Amino acid sequence: MTTSPAPGTTRSNPSNGRPRVVIIGSGFGGLFAAQALRRADVDITLIGKTSHHLFQPLLYQVATGILSEGEIAPSTREIVRRHENTRVVLGEVTDIDLAARTVTSTVLGRVAVYEYDELIVAAGAGQSYFGNDRFAEFAPGMKSIDDALELRGRIFGAFELAELATDQAEIDRLMTFVVVGAGPTGVEMAGQIAELAHRTLRRDFRRIDPTTARIVLLDAAPYVLPSFGDKLGGRARRQLNEIGVEVQLGAMVTDVDADGLEVKDADGQVRRIPAATKIWAAGVQASPLARMLGEQSGAEVDRAGRVAVLPDLTLPGHPEVHVVGDMMSLDKLPGVAQVAIQGGRYAATAIKRRLAGKAPQGPFKYFDKGSMATISRFSAVADLGKLKFSGFIAWLMWLVVHLFYIVGFKSRITTVLHWAVSFLGRGRSQRVATQQQIFGRLALEHLPPTFEASKTGGPKDIPIGEDATGRQSA
Ligand SMILES: Cc1cc2nc3c(=O)[nH]c(=O)nc-3n(C[C@H](O)[C@H](O)[C@H](O)COP(=O)(O)OP(=O)(O)OC[C@H]3O[C@@H](n4cnc5c(N)ncnc54)[C@H](O)[C@@H]3O)c2cc1C
Repeated sequence: MTTSPAPGTTRSNPSNGRPRVVIIGSGFGGLFAAQALRRADVDITLIGKTSHHLFQPLLYQVATGILSEGEIAPSTREIVRRHENTRVVLGEVTDIDLAARTVTSTVLGRVAVYEYDELIVAAGAGQSYFGNDRFAEFAPGMKSIDDALELRGRIFGAFELAELATDQAEIDRLMTFVVVGAGPTGVEMAGQIAELAHRTLRRDFRRIDPTTARIVLLDAAPYVLPSFGDKLGGRARRQLNEIGVEVQLGAMVTDVDADGLEVKDADGQVRRIPAATKIWAAGVQASPLARMLGEQSGAEVDRAGRVAVLPDLTLPGHPEVHVVGDMMSLDKLPGVAQVAIQGGRYAATAIKRRLAGKAPQGPFKYFDKGSMATISRFSAVADLGKLKFSGFIAWLMWLVVHLFYIVGFKSRITTVLHWAVSFLGRGRSQRVATQQQIFGRLALEHLPPTFEASKTGGPKDIPIGEDATGRQSA
């Protein structure tokens, strides 16, 4: 059964007799599910809001000029080009109808409705500003290629403006970088800005001294890397201090504006940090699709917007709907790539077994392979359960693991070359910052109401017949 398509809507995956599997999201969960189903006797439609698969763990390297966006965001279409049962389509899913078994997506005014026999929802999570969305204008998060390129423009641009400034207070403001959130993303970002200022840019300016840049890592919690435990968190903090990152814990951000931020310390004192560049690396909010699924199935939705799934990753009363990765909650599993990858593969196996008439597999069991975070070149922490590493050995492990998971041979080769430039030398191969990168998001907000930029990357609806500026096309 399918809802009748509205005008401007295409019915996009007519049945050819084979079961239809629709996968939402080309991130870790969606892509690994598609790969696990590549030889199954099904027709797969993989719907993605962007045309690339994004390797989020290396976004901070795009933001700080080490890697290019192409290396961490290969085209989804290219990755699955040999999967004959898979069709990749661009579109932001705006509706899932569990009763009708349809998914509706839209891109630039083109609406499509897809019917499914099995649905895998892997739409991930976006940034959360804990109810203070206005902070986003001044403190971009790091969830998409757009975010990383905007941050790159802001970081390199701050040094350029500091070179021009004559007032010392203004120079100090421009050369202060504040990263909010001392989880892995914040730690990696702060570490890389410190290396950029203290090593890469050391000799590039004449009036300012980039080595005097102030890099502040803030967190309301009293720990660095809380999920890594006291011992590794403590080591990470020491390593950050050694490379010149000021770590301020128990410090809650209460306001952010163009010139800086306001922070409330654990003792209740409120202070201000003048800073041109602020980066938000705290908090995630699951895709709004999770709430939609919760409302229709009766499954609970938690404060982070994640929908509670059954032990087999399906929704109550809907064994044909599998929810994986960052947008589901089960047994307090963390929002990490391996949970999404293993969940995607598990959902694919469930589908193959059902189609083969086999009994369902046991409940989803997450195999924790450990976690890692880099602090600077040659320095990282790695938590492999009972085994804990820090320093150079942890960094080597980080290097090998990340190279292994980067998708595509070409990307691996160029990544190694760019890492050699940055880690063996002092350089950064990707220092381009264009006006589009720095001002693009703000400029989009000035477009007419008919155009709304998606907050998590990718364009949203434009009525058919109009272009992005609101002009009627001929
Ligand atoms: C900066 C950063 C660093 C990280 N570092 C690490 C790390 O070092 N190690 C680690 O294990 N994990 C890390 N993570 C977490 C890890 O990336 C996530 O846990 C993982 O990506 C979750 O996979 P997913 O498939 O659930 O979602 P994602 O990988 O986020 O994929 C979601 C997909 O859904 C698409 N999508 C979203 N909404 C829609 C929609 N409405 N319609 C169509 N498509 C949609 C998106 O475009 C995307 O393709 C990091 C995350 C970030 C942001």
